[in-house]
Amino acid sequence: MTFTKNRRYKEKMKKISVIGLGFVGLTLAVTNAQKGFFTIGVDNKKEKINNLNKGKEDFFEQDLTKYLKNSLKSKKIQFTSDTKKAIIKTDITFVTVGTPSLKSGKSDLSYIKKSLMEINDILNNKNKTHLIAIKSTLTPQTTQKIILPIFKNLIIKNKLHLVVNPEFLREGYAIKDILEPHLIVIGEQDKKSGDILKKYYSEFYKNPPEIIRTDFTTAELIKYTNNAFLATKISFINSIANLCQKIPEVDVNKISYAIGKDKRIGSLFLQAGPGFGGSCLPKDLSGLINFSNQVGSSDLFFKAIKEVNNSQLKLIIGLMKKLNVLNKQKTISILGLAFKKNTDDIREAVSEKLVKKLLSLGLKINVHDPMAIDNFREIFGSKITYYDKIMDCLKNSDCCIILTEWDDYKKLKQSDFIKIMKTKNVIDARRILDPTKFEKINFVALGLGKK
Ligand code: NAD
Repeated sequence: MTFTKNRRYKEKMKKISVIGLGFVGLTLAVTNAQKGFFTIGVDNKKEKINNLNKGKEDFFEQDLTKYLKNSLKSKKIQFTSDTKKAIIKTDITFVTVGTPSLKSGKSDLSYIKKSLMEINDILNNKNKTHLIAIKSTLTPQTTQKIILPIFKNLIIKNKLHLVVNPEFLREGYAIKDILEPHLIVIGEQDKKSGDILKKYYSEFYKNPPEIIRTDFTTAELIKYTNNAFLATKISFINSIANLCQKIPEVDVNKISYAIGKDKRIGSLFLQAGPGFGGSCLPKDLSGLINFSNQVGSSDLFFKAIKEVNNSQLKLIIGLMKKLNVLNKQKTISILGLAFKKNTDDIREAVSEKLVKKLLSLGLKINVHDPMAIDNFREIFGSKITYYDKIMDCLKNSDCCIILTEWDDYKKLKQSDFIKIMKTKNVIDARRILDPTKFEKINFVALGLGKK
């Protein structure tokens, strides 16, 4: 492309705004800017905006710092709390505000409703037609029954195009997943709306992935089903792990490796462990149970996935009992607080539930995590002790529990535990260590039958 053609092309590129700069929104905003789209990121937390304008993000995600700094340097990105400015200056808005679980398991739609009502007021005074793409995860029928009525007048006047565009990224790999998605789903009511988003994706990707175009509710249910299936795989292998633990010499890792070789099954999400956490699987599974009840369909299967997941904590406590470390004089070292590696996210992480339980029993707790310490400190303050170094966390301890699969923990050797711990008890709740290399200490693991 010649210089002038290239400039003309860039000038024609749509201008993007992203509302809600959490894990999804911020990574999406900086990736758009890096791809050359003029992008405005909006969040209602003013302090967050001030920090982002200085190049400081408030959570850890691989490559995020680099992308944020480059975007600011190229002036392709602006951050603001002024939704009006963002909507007026751009053509397409991605909505990425949170849809957390309420106690009932239902999704809390208050953030998205508030945001969309604000956008509706602004668009009523904008002359150009605008596209709203909702990336927040929604309970099926939310767009049809709750969101469409908000925008009714704008749609009648042909001033708004609306699509549901669920996001499938994984925390820890968010930027990579935005750059190389396995699929794009567009839920639309009219073809024109879907066409605009499809055109944007053809500018974003040199070779766009497969795009599925469907109605709003199917798009919403695809996202719920996707997450429920991932949760199913985890609870399934954890049920097999619990069985393995009762049978001498049997190790679930060998079983998951073997069945993962079957292409119909696949090896991903088949690692036994403390159960799934994070901001998506537990919440979307609860949402699916609630939605099934609402439409009069059986929730039996989905409830079982959840129950298996909740019981993983009891299994860890059971292993502690076996090792005789559940009394007040004991010090427990927990390695790994984040709900999985490569993130500092501790939402719905088993670490929080375990620490609460152990504190209620009066045990002394040491914790280590390469990324999530600050988030954990906000919950537990001075009730537990935080360590930057693994070996300091293990010093004089009575039991080590590995809860997150960080690469540094995979490098631990038997001699490390022998050297530093008071009593050499290790629980591998993530199944990242080879049990045959830990035969001189009290090594137990989820899904490992005792000798
Ligand atoms: P998050 O809670 O990390 O971030 C949401 C952000 O929205 C916050 O910074 C909040 O301040 C902001 N916000 C709320 N109301 C606002 C408003 N009216 N105007 C401007 N900003 C507002 O959420 P997240 O983890 O990024 O998830 C966002 C959505 O994407 C959820 O529906 C989630 O289910 C879905 N999702 C998340 C992931 C993930 O891995 N985190 C993956 C796929 C889909």
